[in-house]
Amino acid sequence: MIQQRVMVAITAFYHFVPLTSEQVDAVITQLNILGPVFAVRGLVLVAPEGINGTVCMPPENMDAWKAAIREIVFGRDVIFKDATANDYVFPRYKVDGRTEIVTADMPGVFPTTSRNNHLTAQEWHQTILSDPNVVVIDTRNDYEVKIGKFKGAVDPNLEIFTEWPQYVEDNPLDKDTKVLMYCTGGIRCEKAIFAMQERGYSNVWQLEGGILKYFEEFPSGGVFEGECFVFDDRIAVTPDLKPTERWGRCPHCGDPASIPTECPYCFEHAVICDTCQALIVGGETHRKACSRNCATHVKRGTTPRRRPKAVKPALGNVSG
Ligand SMILES: [Zn+2]
Ligand SMILES: [Zn+2]
Repeated sequence: MIQQRVMVAITAFYHFVPLTSEQVDAVITQLNILGPVFAVRGLVLVAPEGINGTVCMPPENMDAWKAAIREIVFGRDVIFKDATANDYVFPRYKVDGRTEIVTADMPGVFPTTSRNNHLTAQEWHQTILSDPNVVVIDTRNDYEVKIGKFKGAVDPNLEIFTEWPQYVEDNPLDKDTKVLMYCTGGIRCEKAIFAMQERGYSNVWQLEGGILKYFEEFPSGGVFEGECFVFDDRIAVTPDLKPTERWGRCPHCGDPASIPTECPYCFEHAVICDTCQALIVGGETHRKACSRNCATHVKRGTTPRRRPKAVKPALGNVSG
């Protein structure tokens, strides 16, 4: 039996901590030095409210990276959500200064304690199993919820996270309802919970470390159904934190995709999403193409290129 070699370690983390503009600059400088030292790729956001990142690197560098991150945020407790892959999942390393470390249109609104009504993965799991009256809400975007969510979770159909306060406003519950909210790694709920607490909800809880931490504790999936969308080349991860074999990325809209198509221009095989598939049925035949570039040729009616000799098998563009 051939054993697959783990080539990169991946970790996602965030930490809310008030930083002056000088400290923000200093953190960005430190991170820009550290990245090449540890052969890191990925994205780290820095703002006056803290840091947030997902990065990958050779596994032997990971402990030192984490130690450096803890140092940078003043040695405080940081939760790291770990995974592995057989290749880098980001094309490059980038450190970006922002006004928020998660785009919520709520700059300056962030937790001052490290635990604002958190439930650990174990507590979360037991609560869902034991309390049939609990309302579970997914705070992620619609295209993320589509490929997997906790059993029975409400999908607010957000196109972007900034729609969350309006959703809370438009969908009132009894103020003492026990509400459990979750997202990918926990950071969106750190802000989302304020939108509920500010409106008087007194029994609202968030999944600490998000779905990714839950998967670490429940690698067979537990009460989660499907896969978890991630914002890197893996597209999604299975509950055992392996890159998906089921989902690709739709070349036309970027959503997770699994419907095979043969490009009418270059005859490559690709996968497209169900939304774009519906638009093909509605007449937008250029969405059959394998890429935006080919879609342009299809729209123009350019003559298709000759079929290449070796045609890739169906689903050939899905990450493995
Ligand atoms: Zn699409
Ligand atoms: Zn094509």
